[in-house]
Amino acid sequence: MQNEYYPFVNLPLPYDYNDLEPFIDEKTMYLHHNRHLQTYIDNLNAALKMCPTLQKMSLTDLLQNLSSLPSEHEKAIRNNAGGVYNHRFYFDRLTKSSTLKPEGIVSLAINKYFNSFENFKRLFKEAALSVFGSGYAWLVINNNRLCIITTANQNTPLELGMKPILTIDVWEHAYYLKNYNMRASYIDNWFNVVNWEKIEIN
Ligand code: MN
Repeated sequence: MQNEYYPFVNLPLPYDYNDLEPFIDEKTMYLHHNRHLQTYIDNLNAALKMCPTLQKMSLTDLLQNLSSLPSEHEKAIRNNAGGVYNHRFYFDRLTKSSTLKPEGIVSLAINKYFNSFENFKRLFKEAALSVFGSGYAWLVINNNRLCIITTANQNTPLELGMKPILTIDVWEHAYYLKNYNMRASYIDNWFNVVNWEKIEIN
Protein backbone atom coordinates (compact mmCIF):
# COMPACT_ATOMS: atom_id res chain seq x y z
CA MET A 1 0.00 0.00 0.00
CA GLN A 2 1.26 3.44 -0.93
CA ASN A 3 0.40 6.50 1.10
CA GLU A 4 2.32 9.35 -0.46
CA TYR A 5 -0.41 11.98 -0.14
CA TYR A 6 -2.50 13.67 2.54
CA PRO A 7 -4.17 12.35 4.63
CA PHE A 8 -1.27 10.28 5.89
CA VAL A 9 -1.86 7.05 7.78
CA ASN A 10 0.48 4.88 9.79
CA LEU A 11 1.03 1.88 7.52
CA PRO A 12 1.60 -1.44 9.29
CA LEU A 13 5.19 -2.64 9.41
CA PRO A 14 6.12 -5.48 7.02
CA TYR A 15 7.00 -7.60 10.09
CA ASP A 16 5.86 -8.04 13.70
CA TYR A 17 7.09 -5.84 16.53
CA ASN A 18 8.94 -8.80 18.08
CA ASP A 19 10.47 -10.06 14.83
CA LEU A 20 13.73 -8.16 15.23
CA GLU A 21 14.48 -9.66 18.66
CA PRO A 22 17.06 -10.02 20.09
CA PHE A 23 18.67 -7.24 18.06
CA ILE A 24 15.92 -4.64 18.46
CA ASP A 25 13.42 -5.32 21.23
CA GLU A 26 9.66 -5.55 20.81
CA LYS A 27 8.81 -2.67 23.14
CA THR A 28 11.13 -0.30 21.33
CA MET A 29 9.67 -1.30 17.96
CA TYR A 30 6.11 -0.92 19.25
CA LEU A 31 6.67 2.51 20.78
CA HIS A 32 8.78 3.68 17.86
CA HIS A 33 6.16 2.78 15.25
CA ASN A 34 2.92 3.09 17.17
CA ARG A 35 3.72 6.24 19.16
CA HIS A 36 6.64 8.13 17.66
CA LEU A 37 5.81 7.67 13.97
CA GLN A 38 2.09 8.05 14.70
CA THR A 39 2.77 11.43 16.30
CA TYR A 40 4.65 12.66 13.21
CA ILE A 41 1.76 11.47 11.04
CA ASP A 42 -0.82 13.23 13.21
CA ASN A 43 1.21 16.43 13.32
CA LEU A 44 1.82 16.38 9.55
CA ASN A 45 -1.90 15.93 8.88
CA ALA A 46 -2.66 18.78 11.28
CA ALA A 47 -0.09 21.03 9.53
CA LEU A 48 -1.61 20.29 6.10
CA LYS A 49 -5.24 20.40 7.17
CA MET A 50 -5.80 24.03 6.18
CA CYS A 51 -3.50 23.99 3.11
CA PRO A 52 -5.30 22.45 0.11
CA THR A 53 -2.41 23.34 -2.22
CA LEU A 54 0.13 21.52 -0.09
CA GLN A 55 -2.22 18.55 0.26
CA LYS A 56 -1.74 17.95 -3.46
CA MET A 57 2.02 17.52 -3.01
CA SER A 58 3.47 14.10 -2.26
CA LEU A 59 5.57 13.50 0.82
CA THR A 60 8.77 13.60 -1.24
CA ASP A 61 7.61 16.70 -3.18
CA LEU A 62 7.11 18.52 0.12
CA LEU A 63 10.58 17.55 1.33
CA GLN A 64 12.33 18.38 -1.95
CA ASN A 65 10.75 21.83 -1.99
CA LEU A 66 10.93 22.95 1.62
CA SER A 67 12.46 26.31 0.78
CA SER A 68 9.59 27.22 -1.53
CA LEU A 69 6.84 26.36 0.95
CA PRO A 70 4.97 29.20 2.67
CA SER A 71 7.36 30.22 5.47
CA GLU A 72 4.73 29.86 8.19
CA HIS A 73 4.43 26.15 7.34
CA GLU A 74 8.04 25.32 6.55
CA LYS A 75 9.15 24.32 10.05
CA ALA A 76 6.17 22.08 10.81
CA ILE A 77 6.49 20.37 7.43
CA ARG A 78 10.28 19.97 7.67
CA ASN A 79 9.95 18.31 11.08
CA ASN A 80 6.84 16.23 10.53
CA ALA A 81 7.04 15.28 6.85
CA GLY A 82 10.69 14.51 7.58
CA GLY A 83 9.65 12.42 10.59
CA VAL A 84 7.23 10.41 8.47
CA TYR A 85 9.62 9.95 5.55
CA ASN A 86 12.66 9.08 7.66
CA HIS A 87 10.82 6.56 9.85
CA ARG A 88 9.18 4.83 6.91
CA PHE A 89 12.56 4.63 5.19
CA TYR A 90 14.21 3.20 8.31
CA PHE A 91 11.46 0.67 9.16
CA ASP A 92 11.05 -0.51 5.56
CA ARG A 93 14.66 -1.63 5.38
CA LEU A 94 14.69 -3.89 8.43
CA THR A 95 14.01 -7.64 8.46
CA LYS A 96 14.24 -10.62 10.75
CA SER A 97 16.00 -12.64 8.05
CA SER A 98 18.86 -10.41 7.03
CA THR A 99 21.49 -11.69 4.62
CA LEU A 100 23.89 -9.62 6.81
CA LYS A 101 25.66 -8.26 3.75
CA PRO A 102 24.72 -6.91 0.36
CA GLU A 103 24.92 -8.99 -2.79
CA GLY A 104 25.11 -8.25 -6.53
CA ILE A 105 25.11 -4.66 -7.70
CA VAL A 106 24.81 -3.21 -4.20
CA SER A 107 27.82 -5.19 -3.05
CA LEU A 108 29.85 -4.10 -6.09
CA ALA A 109 28.95 -0.45 -5.55
CA ILE A 110 29.83 -0.54 -1.86
CA ASN A 111 33.16 -2.18 -2.63
CA LYS A 112 33.84 0.40 -5.32
CA TYR A 113 33.27 3.42 -3.08
CA PHE A 114 34.30 2.05 0.33
CA ASN A 115 36.88 -0.62 -0.65
CA SER A 116 35.12 -3.39 1.27
CA PHE A 117 31.89 -4.09 3.11
CA GLU A 118 33.79 -4.21 6.41
CA ASN A 119 35.22 -0.77 5.72
CA PHE A 120 31.75 0.53 4.79
CA LYS A 121 30.40 -0.79 8.12
CA ARG A 122 33.21 0.91 10.00
CA LEU A 123 32.61 4.27 8.29
CA PHE A 124 28.82 4.03 8.60
CA LYS A 125 29.11 3.25 12.31
CA GLU A 126 31.53 6.15 12.77
CA ALA A 127 29.05 8.49 11.07
CA ALA A 128 26.14 7.21 13.16
CA LEU A 129 28.18 7.71 16.34
CA SER A 130 29.14 11.22 15.25
CA VAL A 131 25.56 12.53 15.19
CA PHE A 132 25.40 14.96 18.11
CA GLY A 133 21.97 14.76 19.68
CA SER A 134 19.20 13.38 17.47
CA GLY A 135 19.40 12.48 13.81
CA TYR A 136 20.28 9.88 11.22
CA ALA A 137 23.21 8.43 9.33
CA TRP A 138 22.56 7.72 5.66
CA LEU A 139 24.00 5.97 2.68
CA VAL A 140 23.03 8.19 -0.25
CA ILE A 141 23.72 8.78 -3.90
CA ASN A 142 25.03 12.28 -4.44
CA ASN A 143 26.20 13.38 -7.90
CA ASN A 144 26.21 9.75 -9.03
CA ARG A 145 28.48 8.73 -6.18
CA LEU A 146 27.73 6.68 -3.10
CA CYS A 147 28.47 8.51 0.12
CA ILE A 148 27.72 8.48 3.83
CA ILE A 149 26.16 11.57 5.38
CA THR A 150 24.36 12.49 8.58
CA THR A 151 21.29 14.66 9.11
CA ALA A 152 20.14 16.35 12.28
CA ASN A 153 16.67 16.09 13.81
CA GLN A 154 14.22 15.01 11.07
CA ASN A 155 16.05 16.62 8.18
CA THR A 156 16.27 14.43 5.09
CA PRO A 157 18.79 14.01 2.24
CA LEU A 158 15.95 14.95 -0.15
CA GLU A 159 16.28 18.68 0.50
CA LEU A 160 19.99 18.34 -0.36
CA GLY A 161 19.10 16.80 -3.71
CA MET A 162 20.50 13.41 -2.66
CA LYS A 163 18.92 9.99 -3.12
CA PRO A 164 18.63 7.98 0.11
CA ILE A 165 19.69 4.33 -0.01
CA LEU A 166 19.85 3.21 3.63
CA THR A 167 19.43 4.89 7.01
CA ILE A 168 19.83 4.31 10.72
CA ASP A 169 17.75 6.33 13.19
CA VAL A 170 20.02 7.34 16.07
CA TRP A 171 17.47 9.27 18.11
CA GLU A 172 17.64 7.85 21.65
CA HIS A 173 14.05 6.55 21.35
CA ALA A 174 15.39 4.08 18.75
CA TYR A 175 17.58 2.29 21.30
CA TYR A 176 17.42 3.61 24.85
CA LEU A 177 15.14 0.94 26.39
CA LYS A 178 17.51 -1.88 25.41
CA ASN A 179 20.90 -0.23 25.03
CA TYR A 180 20.53 2.71 27.45
CA ASN A 181 23.12 5.29 26.41
CA MET A 182 25.21 2.85 24.36
CA ARG A 183 24.52 3.92 20.81
CA ALA A 184 27.44 1.82 19.54
CA SER A 185 25.83 -1.40 20.71
CA TYR A 186 22.54 -0.42 19.03
CA ILE A 187 24.40 0.21 15.77
CA ASP A 188 26.12 -3.20 15.99
CA ASN A 189 22.73 -4.85 16.60
CA TRP A 190 21.11 -2.92 13.77
CA PHE A 191 23.59 -4.36 11.25
CA ASN A 192 22.01 -7.77 11.98
CA VAL A 193 18.56 -6.70 10.81
CA VAL A 194 19.30 -4.64 7.71
CA ASN A 195 17.20 -5.83 4.78
CA TRP A 196 19.88 -5.79 2.09
CA GLU A 197 17.46 -7.36 -0.37
CA LYS A 198 15.41 -4.16 -0.24
CA ILE A 199 18.36 -1.87 -0.86
CA GLU A 200 18.38 -0.49 -4.39
CA ILE A 201 21.14 1.38 -6.14
CA ASN A 202 20.26 2.56 -9.61
MN1 MN B 1 12.77 7.50 15.44
